[in-house]
Amino acid sequence: MIIVLKPKISKREEAAVVREIKRLGYIPHIMRGVARTVIGAIGDELTHQSLESLPTNFPNAVESVMPVQKRYKLVSREAHPANSTIDVRGTIIGGKKVQIMAGPCSVESEDQLLKTAHAVKAAGATILRGGAFKPRTSPYEFQGLGLKGLKLLDKARQETGLGIITELLSEDHAEMVAEYTDIIQIGARNSQNFQLLIAAAKTGKPVLLKRGLSMRIEEWLLAGEYVLSNNNPNLLFCERGIRTFETYTRNTLDLSTIPIIKKESHSPIVIDPSQGAGRADLVMSMCKGAVAMGADALLIEVHPNPAKALSDAAQQLSLEMFARLMTELKPFLAAAGRE
Ligand code: PEP
Ligand code: MN
Repeated sequence: MIIVLKPKISKREEAAVVREIKRLGYIPHIMRGVARTVIGAIGDELTHQSLESLPTNFPNAVESVMPVQKRYKLVSREAHPANSTIDVRGTIIGGKKVQIMAGPCSVESEDQLLKTAHAVKAAGATILRGGAFKPRTSPYEFQGLGLKGLKLLDKARQETGLGIITELLSEDHAEMVAEYTDIIQIGARNSQNFQLLIAAAKTGKPVLLKRGLSMRIEEWLLAGEYVLSNNNPNLLFCERGIRTFETYTRNTLDLSTIPIIKKESHSPIVIDPSQGAGRADLVMSMCKGAVAMGADALLIEVHPNPAKALSDAAQQLSLEMFARLMTELKPFLAAAGRE
């Protein structure tokens, strides 16, 4: 159930409503919007007492009580009609500006990372991506630099001021990764690893949740519910393509998820055309399409020497290609009413 509070109620009145929700056997999740606050009350409505008496019992504080019909509750737009925005060291994701997260698939060396970080920043990116723990299909392929990679990301952040996004692969690493990153990435292969999602949520860092390789949108939204229901409001959905029968692309980038996530949820939607297409030559078109359709951010792989990359060589843009992409995106951003 969603409890819509009246605008400008006092802290005391709000606390009284929260106490009553708990007394009736529900877990309250407070969501503060610009105009007003709503409370998501999570609990089984069949076994608990009804919340419908709240507007009568708290006439000065509670405006209405609404059921959420969907299986996902806190993630749903019914619970939170306004877009959620996520503040990453002053970079707002989900606002007017389409934020660009760019960097190598894997952190490989100080030289590789810093060169990329400075170049993507100069071209207009605001967040640096780079995997330190890599989920590789083969155990014989490059697995990432681990802690050393995290430290290099931290160094790049200090040198450039860019925010950092990196993947969390294991619950055991949650605290360590959270210490170095600004956004935790949950990869496609772990998108329904619920214990990992809970561990990521509990770090308090924003969580970017990739869509799984064969995940339905409802399953993705429900996976996102694990983040929000663990008291972390800072969730980003990231479409990175799904496995289909097609072989010309590595995955099939499902751009229909942009309007669908926008309709169903208040959390921002990020598009990753790099994993999505698996081909550097398609990244530009995918980005233009994503911007036109309302994506809130793009996650793009960039490498100073893509041919020599230790992972995902075919899909990484060179520094020059990335700069050209940023220039060519401008009219598409303007046409979409974005910056
Ligand atoms: C990546 O971002 O490099 C990555 C491994 O992504 P995904 O989990 O989408 O495959
Ligand atoms: Mn990659």
